[in-house]
Formats: sequence, structure tokens, C-alpha cells
Amino acid sequence: MDILKERILKEASVINPGVLKLDSLLNHGVDPQLTMEMGKEFARRFEGEKITKVITVEASGIPVAFATALLLGVPLVFARRKKTLLGEPDAYIERVPSFTKGIVTDLIVSRELLRPDDTVLFIDDIIANGDAARGLLKIIEKSGAALAGIGIVLEKSFQAGGQTLREQGYRLETLVKIKSLDNNEISFGD
Ligand code: 5GP
Repeated sequence: MDILKERILKEASVINPGVLKLDSLLNHGVDPQLTMEMGKEFARRFEGEKITKVITVEASGIPVAFATALLLGVPLVFARRKKTLLGEPDAYIERVPSFTKGIVTDLIVSRELLRPDDTVLFIDDIIANGDAARGLLKIIEKSGAALAGIGIVLEKSFQAGGQTLREQGYRLETLVKIKSLDNNEISFGD
């Protein structure tokens, strides 16, 4: 998605060779028009799948997942992220490491909101090692819902998450791939 690449070049900064700061577009702010374009692109790519719900992880996945859900005409569910000490019998819970925070958090989805007769499209902001995605995929699997596919805005393809999911047979669509952040430079992949 060329418009997104242009905006990334203008607005992102390289924190270190593994981490990109993209606050204005994904992690701390939202451009509503650009976000709708991302949603349109995901809706187009997954057209024809019988999606009943879009699912994402709070917080940064919500805007683009909302845009996608709006265009597909289905509800949105977002996994909460919190540290739970108590069991939550009415929810599916998976513990995942957080790439940026260096801690583990629990992803929690209410059993009420994810049903065996759902077909879900999983949308998220960034994939790095794939831990967050794997956690949510486990929750979807436990619920008995079907997965139509995964759509992620930005894939850092020099980290293993995206490739591993594709090798496992998941349909993963990403809008922009970054193949390197070396030397403080953003290099896009195909
Ligand atoms: P993963 O679980 O795939 O290793 O990391 C995915 C999550 O970590 C994303 O949802 C995203 O919020 C965060 N993340 C991973 N890499 C980056 C990065 O380079 N920059 C920012 N801002 N967040 C990242």
C-alpha cells in the first residue's frame, strides 16, 4: 500500500534495528482517513469469506479492525490485555510476552463474544515475533470459531512471526513489509 509507505517514511522513526516508532499512525494516534483506507484494503482482500466477526487485540489493533469491521458490516471484538491473578471462568485466556513492554500479559476474550458458529477475521497493527498473534489464534481455536484469515498492517519481515504463521498454513495478508531497519533506515520488502 503505497500511501502507507509514504506516511511511514514521513512519520516513523527507527528506535533501534528491531523497533520502529509509529505513534502518529498506529500506536498513539489515528489518521481516520488513512485507517479507513487500510480497512477497505483488508475488506477487499477477504471479500467472499463468510466473516461474522472481526477480532483484534487492544489497543493499537482497534482502529484498523474497526474500519475493517465497518466495511464488512460485522461486529468487532477486541481481546483485553491485563494481568490476571484470578481465573476468569467466563473467558478464554492466553499469556503472551509483550514485544515492546518486555513483560507478559494475558489476552482475555469473553466466551460470550466468540462462539463456535463464528468465522472470524483477525486484524492487528504490527507483527514482529508473532507472540501476540499466536496467543489470539489459540483463543480462537479454543472457542471453536473458524478463522477466515489474518490481516496485519505492518510486518517486520526480518523478524520471524509472519513467515512462521504462513509456514503453518495460515492465510496472512500484510499491507506493508519492512525488511530492515539497519543503519537507521527503513527498507521495504515486497
Ligand atoms: P509480536 O507479538 O509479534 O512480537 O509483537 C506484536 C505487538 O508488539 C504488536 O501488536 C505491536 O503493538 C508491538 N510491536 C512489535 N514490534 C513493534 C515495533 O517495531 N514498534 C511498535 N511501536 N510496536 C511494535
